[in-house]
Amino acid sequence: MGLLRTIALIVLGISFLVFVLFFGRLPALRRTPIATLHNIFFIRIPHGLVALDEAVTGRRLTRSLARFIDFMMNDRHPTVVIFFLALLAGGEFLYLPTAWPMMSTWHRVAGTIAVVLPYLFLYLAVMADPGYITPENHAYYMSLYPYDYSIFYPGQHCRTCGFLKPPRSKHCSICKRCIAKLDHHCIFINGCVGYGNHHWFLLLLLSTAVLTSYGALLGFSLLSDLIASRHPAWSLWPPRGMPMSQYLVTWTRGLQDNVCMGAVSLLATMTSPLVWGLLAYTVWLIYCGTTTNESLKWSDWKDDMDDGLAFKRRMSPDRTRDPRVESTWTRWPLGTQQVLVRTDDGMPPGPGGPGEGQWDRVWNIKDVENLYDMGFWDNLMDVFVRDYSFGSSREQPAVEGEVRIRKAPKPSCF
Ligand SMILES: [Zn+2]
Ligand SMILES: [Zn+2]
Repeated sequence: MGLLRTIALIVLGISFLVFVLFFGRLPALRRTPIATLHNIFFIRIPHGLVALDEAVTGRRLTRSLARFIDFMMNDRHPTVVIFFLALLAGGEFLYLPTAWPMMSTWHRVAGTIAVVLPYLFLYLAVMADPGYITPENHAYYMSLYPYDYSIFYPGQHCRTCGFLKPPRSKHCSICKRCIAKLDHHCIFINGCVGYGNHHWFLLLLLSTAVLTSYGALLGFSLLSDLIASRHPAWSLWPPRGMPMSQYLVTWTRGLQDNVCMGAVSLLATMTSPLVWGLLAYTVWLIYCGTTTNESLKWSDWKDDMDDGLAFKRRMSPDRTRDPRVESTWTRWPLGTQQVLVRTDDGMPPGPGGPGEGQWDRVWNIKDVENLYDMGFWDNLMDVFVRDYSFGSSREQPAVEGEVRIRKAPKPSCF
């Protein structure tokens, strides 16, 4: 029991730290205990250790560690991919020899599919072009989305690549390239999640979430069967008349007798909520018609609105677009109808600039529309189908740049 409990506690501790590391900086969790813990574990404690090293070795230790961390964090290397693969393969190697002979044909078929799919989607997510912007495809990526004049404005160049930044794109400092519709740089696939591989990333999360849940449920049900072969009165739920303490002790013995499958089932149980959480967050972003990168920009806007520094005004949808800085045609069925700007002094912007009419101060993010939110179904299709043509916008516009379908503008989620 001692060893099993230690393993369980270590796994639980690591899972929790990973959860805090991944979720602690999300704008949606600002001002929650998760963000506070992130601040303590990943900012304050490291700073304290640096101060200690300064006093003891004159920062020698920190400098070499910083070089190592800089390489680990800011360069492309497959360490986490290898770790992820080792965890998958190692878990299956320990689990299957006990489980396979006890599995029904149905579970053998379903189990094989559940085991294979994460490898397949990981391969596809890693190998697919995430949407690297090149001189050849730059015009194409310029025509995918319009500028919304809120979080993406025309006329901005990438300082490294020299390109005019297409709407929704971002330069990745780790990949050292500009990526179309960048969501985030993902260490689990050793590359960016962007326009070209977002769907594979989503399927990788879904298949891994299913695998961990399925493995945990099947593992505990098989363990229960093994225990039942020794204790005829046993059942998965506490049998009638059996005290809780005896039920738990019997479970522990069952786990000890099948320690490999038991440990992997426990690991799967503990990691499963993390994967489902990551999947739910990714789906929620799609539901909101945004990306991780854009959610950070919206979050900044929210702070500026709280400070009274944000102003918006109307943008005529049939305005003429300047072909030097933006594509005159995009496949997106809507054009922006608002311009959002921030001022440093809290006074309305001066004359000139894009848009028309008077400037209104914006206090609430709900008063701002998110041009890229077309409703959950269309947002999802845009992730899965390359060059998705929106159902109601198949007819070509009579006038170039005309708004073809009018949905009620959706406010930003943040
Ligand atoms: Zn770039
Ligand atoms: Zn990247």
